[in-house]
Amino acid sequence: MARRDGDARVALVTGANRGIGLEVCRQLAGQGLRVILTGRDRARAEAAAGELRGEKLDVTAVALDVTDAASIRACEREVQKQFGGVDVLVNNAAVLVAEGATLLDIPVEDFRTTFDTNVFGVVEVCQAFVPAMVARSYGRVVNVSSGAGQLSSMTTYAPAYSISKAALNALTIQLAASTKGRGVLVNCVNPGWVRTRMGGRGAPRSVEAGADTIVWLATLPANGPTGKFFSDRREIAW
Ligand code: NAP
Repeated sequence: MARRDGDARVALVTGANRGIGLEVCRQLAGQGLRVILTGRDRARAEAAAGELRGEKLDVTAVALDVTDAASIRACEREVQKQFGGVDVLVNNAAVLVAEGATLLDIPVEDFRTTFDTNVFGVVEVCQAFVPAMVARSYGRVVNVSSGAGQLSSMTTYAPAYSISKAALNALTIQLAASTKGRGVLVNCVNPGWVRTRMGGRGAPRSVEAGADTIVWLATLPANGPTGKFFSDRREIAW
């Protein structure tokens, strides 16, 4: 299937079966985009997409484990067949492990697990979907980062996670530079401390507030920024 001018934009969100990713799907579909809700567990992704379809939103579930190259390839094929490509990619999937441990105590395997999802997974998903965006001269990539990855204010609360999000920010700069002037805008965002399984019940922000800047960046106009880090729709320091 080929994409045609005038077709609704297609957005793919990773790790979207719950939390901030699910709310990003809801808000993007609410703005009229066709949304591909992906999750590593097909049944959970289907259930989440079903919930949004129940709200009369155009949401389709596709299985995607960002740490599994075969899963990424299968997702890309399925998306090409059903939608003809992706205009918007939200790299939202992440893991937070070894919280509270110090750098010198964290088993290197925990760093690997963290980087496999939060960094290498993003690289591989971008390699799958961004070249076609460049070819069509339109794309929006939003990398969901964290205040934990902000070098200028970094704390020691979750070293592996912090280092992975700082790497994700660097990845954002790299991808933005390599797609500059080609119609593809690449940015990263700190959603704030949000009430999800990762953020916990005591977090001050709702998923609606956490998703807001992600959705804003996913729908930027052609003259929008690229290669920047945002919080609450404002650029922030690295
Ligand atoms: P969450 O509720 O824990 O959701 C994480 C999502 O990522 C889940 O859907 C999970 O799937 C998915 N995921 C994990 N590994 C995956 C893999 N290998 N392939 C595909 N999906 C995978 O977390 P959240 O709070 O919504 O976080 C969303 C994003 O916001 C993350 O990038 C996080 O780092 C960032 N963030 C969150 C906060 C916060 O306070 N919540 C603050 C700053 C940044 P399963 O259900 O299968 O596990």
